[in-house]
Amino acid sequence: MKNQVFLAFALCFCVFSGSFAQKKEITVVIDPGHGGYDPGHLSASPFLKTEKELNLKISLFLGGYIEKYLQNVKVVYTRTTDVYPTLDERVSKANAINADYFISIHCNGNERNGVHGTESHVHAMSLAKSVALAREIEEQFSQRAGRKSRGVKDEKDLQHSIQVLKYTNMTGVLVECGFLTNEKEAQYLNTTIGQEVIASAIFRGFRAVIVKEFPSINFIRTTSVTPSQPETASVTPDKESFTIQIASSRDPIEPTDARFKNVKMEVRRIELNTMSAYKYIYTVGSYSSKNEAKSELPQIQSYGYKDAIIIKN
Ligand SMILES: [Zn+2]
Repeated sequence: MKNQVFLAFALCFCVFSGSFAQKKEITVVIDPGHGGYDPGHLSASPFLKTEKELNLKISLFLGGYIEKYLQNVKVVYTRTTDVYPTLDERVSKANAINADYFISIHCNGNERNGVHGTESHVHAMSLAKSVALAREIEEQFSQRAGRKSRGVKDEKDLQHSIQVLKYTNMTGVLVECGFLTNEKEAQYLNTTIGQEVIASAIFRGFRAVIVKEFPSINFIRTTSVTPSQPETASVTPDKESFTIQIASSRDPIEPTDARFKNVKMEVRRIELNTMSAYKYIYTVGSYSSKNEAKSELPQIQSYGYKDAIIIKN
């Protein structure tokens, strides 16, 4: 009798541990916040996109990078068009498929229009895996994407809980990609380059965390492209040269315009092939490495371009 009990226990244990050992693929749910009749935060200018539109763009870039540069990761979206799934539906979808990660993408707003920067929210600081992912994303925002990070916050900091984090069963983060009520940040988030830089920072944070958590799964695709490529618009040290973007505009401005007189360097204007309203960007300097550009960045910011960022030439 005793033996039977032991055998039953041993069988359960084998099945249980076996299901973990055999995990070959992980699932991430990407949740573009708001949608449909719910626009989310409105941008500083009515000519700029609303939060729901930017959330979707950044989410699709993020999912695209994961699908292109990683393997053994299944990407599931809560929406891919301008519709509004309820918060319950978003939570149920992630729980029903036993997702491993839940990443909700939002843009922030504040009644004071000077407030700017990124934030990553978790349900509670006691959730170590969620906090690790949030910290990694914020680290990427500040160290590699040149954004101001306002850090990781939980329900105590926010003084309210976030439904999609509270009720999802997996590692979960809600990323606030910047403040649309801050004109400069809204403009940045309206550029394709800005959306790509933000999405690739989240991508890099996610990649760093999954590689550590699932060492037995081979995530990095080695065929045709290298995983560093989505670091596009900003920040990978490589053979290509780098420059510093100081501004963007809807209509072309002459590089010799008085508005640039504080920059004691030659300003170049580049027309982007983009659907974004901010088609023109203005850059200064040319650097053979990202580090070289980085050492020059504070000087250029001191000319009055606090949001200047490093981009690939
Ligand atoms: Zn939102």
